[in-house]
Amino acid sequence: MQTAGRKGTSAFLCKLDAGLGGMCMRCKIGVISGDGIGPEIVREAREVLEKVAKVYGHTFEYTELLLGGASIDVYGIPLTEETIEKAKACDAVLMGSIGGDAKTSPWYQLEPSKRPEAGLLGIRKALNLFANLRPAYLYEELRAACPLREDISAAGFDMLIMRELTGGLYFGERKTEEVDGVLTAVDTLSYNETEIRRIAKRAFEIARKRRGKVCSVDKANVLDSSRLWRKIVEEMAKEYPDVELSHMYVDNCAMQLVMNPAQFDVILTENMFGDILSDEASMVTGSIGMLSSASLNDTKFGLYEPSHGSAPDIAGQDKANPIATILSAAMMLRYSFDLDKEADAIEEAVRKVLKEGYRTGDIMSDGCEYVGTQKMGELIVEKI
Ligand code: NAD
Repeated sequence: MQTAGRKGTSAFLCKLDAGLGGMCMRCKIGVISGDGIGPEIVREAREVLEKVAKVYGHTFEYTELLLGGASIDVYGIPLTEETIEKAKACDAVLMGSIGGDAKTSPWYQLEPSKRPEAGLLGIRKALNLFANLRPAYLYEELRAACPLREDISAAGFDMLIMRELTGGLYFGERKTEEVDGVLTAVDTLSYNETEIRRIAKRAFEIARKRRGKVCSVDKANVLDSSRLWRKIVEEMAKEYPDVELSHMYVDNCAMQLVMNPAQFDVILTENMFGDILSDEASMVTGSIGMLSSASLNDTKFGLYEPSHGSAPDIAGQDKANPIATILSAAMMLRYSFDLDKEADAIEEAVRKVLKEGYRTGDIMSDGCEYVGTQKMGELIVEKI
C-alpha cells in the first residue's frame, strides 16, 4: 500500500527557508468540510490557520475533498478513489465531521456500506491511520461543566488517549452461525507484534512532547492479546528510558478516569478499550465541542478532526462550537508539521478567549457572553 503524505515525506521536505521566526513552511492540507456543522467549523479553523500562516510566514495550500454525505450527494458513494488519491498527495488532512440524522436523512436509506460513516472507516483504512489520539483537557474556565466531584475536578487534568485504530476486535474475523441448533456469534480479537510495536513507538514519542509518562492499558490477567501487548510495550520502553511506563487493567482504568484523572499523561491502548475509554475521558471534560482528535500513520501524515459528530440538529444556524476543530488544526501543526510554537499560539488564543468569558451555547454559563460559531472563530483569530 502506498503510504499517505507524499510518500511519507510530509512537511519535512516542505520547509522552504529559515526566516526570522524560524523555518517557513509550505504545506499541502486536504480539507474535508463534511456534513452538518462541518462546513461552518472548518471555515473557522481555516481562518485560524491563515492567521498563523500570516504571523509566522508559512504558506498553507488547501485541497477540497469530498467524504461522507457530501460525497454521496455527488457520486452516490461516501468515498471515491479520487478522494483517497488527493488525500495521499497532501501532507495532512483537516476534517469537519460527516453524517446526518439517521431518522430523516436519505443517506440512511442506503445499505450500510454506502452510508456516510463507511466513508470514514474507508479513508482511515486507505490511509493506514492506525493511531488515534484524543486529548482530554479540563479548562479552568469550564470547570463548572465537569461532571466530576469538585475535589476531583479541582486537580484538573490533561491527558491524551492513544488508541490503536486498525486492528483488534473491530477488524478481526467474525461470523454468526447456528451451532447445534443455537445461533452463535464469534468476533476475533487479534494483534501481532508489529501492530503493537508501531503504536507503542508513537505513544512514547508523543509522551516526549508532553510530560513523559505512558500508561499502557490492557487486560493481561485474562487475554492473550493483552499479554503480548504488554510484552511488546515493555520491550519498546527500553528505547525510551526518559519516558516513565506503567500498566493498568482496563476495568481499573475506567474507574481511575473518574476517581483521579489527574494521574494520566498518555494512555496507550488497543482499539475497543480505547473506543470506550476515550468517550469516557471526553465526557468528564463536560464539553464535547472542545475536544480535538488526530489519526496518524507511520509517517508524519495525519487526519485531524473534532471528536464530536456533525450535529445535524444545529447545522447552518451559527450555533456550533468551532473550538474542537480549531484545536484539531493545532494538533495538525504540532504532529504533522512539527510547528509546536504555532500550535501553542492557537491553544493559548483559545484559553484567552475563554478567560475573557466568551462562550458558544454548548459551554455557556452564567455571567459569560454568548457568541456564535463565526464570532468565536474571529475572537480566536484576533488573539493569535
Ligand atoms: P454529535 O456529536 O453530532 O451530537 C451530539 C450532541 O452534541 C448534539 O446535541 C449536538 O448538537 C451537540 N454537538 C456536537 N458537536 C457540537 C459542537 N461543535 N458545538 C455545539 N454542540 C455540538 O453526535 P450524534 O448526534 O450522535 O451524531 C450526528 C451525526 O454525526 C451522525 O450521523 C453520526 O454518525 C455522525 N458522527 C460523525 C463523527 C465523525 O465524523 N467522526 C463522529 C461521531 C458522529
